[in-house]
Amino acid sequence: MKKKMVALLTSVVMATSMLVGCGAAEEAPAPAPAEELAAEAEAEEVADEAAEEAVAEIGADTQAIIDRGVLKVGVKNAVVGFGFQDTLTEEYSGLEISIAEKIAEKLGVDIEFTAVTAATRTELLDSGDIDCVLATFTITDERKESWDFSTPYFTDHVTVLVETASGITDLAALKDKTVGVSSGSTSAKSLTQAMIDAGVIEGADFDPETFDAATWTEGISYKQYDDYPAISTALSAGEVDAFCVDKSILAIYNTDERNYIDDEFAPQDYGVATKKGSDFSAYVETCVTDWLADGTIAGFISENGLD
Ligand code: GLU
Repeated sequence: MKKKMVALLTSVVMATSMLVGCGAAEEAPAPAPAEELAAEAEAEEVADEAAEEAVAEIGADTQAIIDRGVLKVGVKNAVVGFGFQDTLTEEYSGLEISIAEKIAEKLGVDIEFTAVTAATRTELLDSGDIDCVLATFTITDERKESWDFSTPYFTDHVTVLVETASGITDLAALKDKTVGVSSGSTSAKSLTQAMIDAGVIEGADFDPETFDAATWTEGISYKQYDDYPAISTALSAGEVDAFCVDKSILAIYNTDERNYIDDEFAPQDYGVATKKGSDFSAYVETCVTDWLADGTIAGFISENGLD
């Protein structure tokens, strides 16, 4: 029944846009007023019923957010173009902020942002302090076992930032160096895999399932930090030789005295994370796929200079 109505509504919309799109509206003979009114009434009825169906489809988890009147979202606060908070105005901006605001608008609720890190975002989601995470959160098979992820809304790559004076310009020059990474991130595993793929290290003991940045010492070692400013400080202090994470995150730490190495690797698909099995996951997935299809997300990407 619902499918039929959606199909009917879709064909009404398609027919309308085809007429407008091809300019045929001007050529088509004007329908008699009575027919026109009947068609309008029918379209309205279909639209009303479809709207009722959509509301009826909202599950208990999503309804709880609507009843609360606030969508609580975990975002980054220092990733320019994705999740960035102006320290003076306290306003958030970026692709992830715009997507989150649009979800809240569709739900008809206010929005509350919580700044998260790679280390805190999942705890906050698990505890229910936040309803979803839009925080440069890479979709991985391992993570999908614990949280639901939407279709990706953006793909970035991992790279490495160094002090220019170090003379490090590629993966080969990172051999036997110490690299700063964030705890809870994909960075160390991605870099180790990239060094193996480039033939810089052999990696006989590398197992992506069990890899642990804390114990890996073959050809490269890692120091883990709770947040990115701490890694940047460690790089300046010479505590680490390099800083590895997604390029989008590194941008703000790329000062005049620093440069990226030549290599970019390990595509990072960012998705909206929600509690596993929550009906809100399905709601978010519909939002993301609709907004990928209709160009809304592409618009946010270009507004934020990410294309
Ligand atoms: N995107 C990577 C990850 O999800 C880097 C960490 C981060 O997002 O802060 O692990």
